[in-house]
Amino acid sequence: MVQRPRRLRSLQPLRAMVRETRLSKASLIYPVFVREGCGIAEEIASMPGQYRYSVDRLPAAVDRLLESGVDKIMLFGIPDCKDSLGSGAWDENGIAPRALRELKRRYPELYCIADVCLCEYTDHGHCGVLASDGRAIDNDKTLPLLAKSALAYVRAGADMVAPSDMMDGRVGAIRSLLDQSGCADVPIMSYAVKYSSSFYGPFREAAGSAPSFGDRKSYQMDYHNRREALKEALLDLDEGADIIMVKPALSYLDVLLAVSEAVNVPVAAYSVSGEYAMIKAAARAGYIDEAAAVCEAAVSVFRAGADMLITYFAPEIAGYINEGRIG
Ligand SMILES: [Zn+2]
Repeated sequence: MVQRPRRLRSLQPLRAMVRETRLSKASLIYPVFVREGCGIAEEIASMPGQYRYSVDRLPAAVDRLLESGVDKIMLFGIPDCKDSLGSGAWDENGIAPRALRELKRRYPELYCIADVCLCEYTDHGHCGVLASDGRAIDNDKTLPLLAKSALAYVRAGADMVAPSDMMDGRVGAIRSLLDQSGCADVPIMSYAVKYSSSFYGPFREAAGSAPSFGDRKSYQMDYHNRREALKEALLDLDEGADIIMVKPALSYLDVLLAVSEAVNVPVAAYSVSGEYAMIKAAARAGYIDEAAAVCEAAVSVFRAGADMLITYFAPEIAGYINEGRIG
């Protein structure tokens, strides 16, 4: 008997029925950059179509998002003033808490995940505080600062916090402060598996968070390593992470698969700024079809084991799901 796999590919309704990977708008998260000032929606040059908004202009992004059927954001604050400790990160009147209060007031249905890190707030641009030599990062001195930043965001209305700094022990430090502060029900999405990646370039422009010296290789992971990803994921689970993230997405699909098979919690993938910029640039040059590439890339991430996707293309992907193009 001749095997005929093509039988199941013959008609669109049948192809849709036998799909092995399903996407849902409920699993999409949209990153939002909020900055100081008034009346500002400033396009990020390396991320066409993405903006830094002042608090009063956030509805421009959120209305469009909710209309597309996506109801989750990841919020990044961009302060005007920075210092060596990154004290703007835990200031209850800092940019992120003010944005969170306004968003939750205006859009009670919007699920707000607050990124937690110091790099947007430190004058040196590193994700932790510097040791006395002024060069190395002091891991353990950074932990309480991350924890109080997370608490400030939760008190301002964040539904979930997502530490992205890659310091050892930060999930445990945040969990324990949240628990002691009556916030035991707030989940933590850990950037557990975060590689030191060239694909973050446009984000650093967007958030003004490029390090002023050195690089982040002493805390972000070496992209040669896969077993280490499992170690990081399992450590964060032990410390109380509710969701484990792998970042970036496309160059790390093998890691995503391995992590999703190793843990018993939901796994998120962050399709980062450089992945967005590459598709945008190639599409603008006429080298690829943007919609087709966005769909293929998004499905690949779920096929590799992700349960949710953080992506700058979230509203577009929701639109493609609505059209039945993917999903
Ligand atoms: Zn950082």
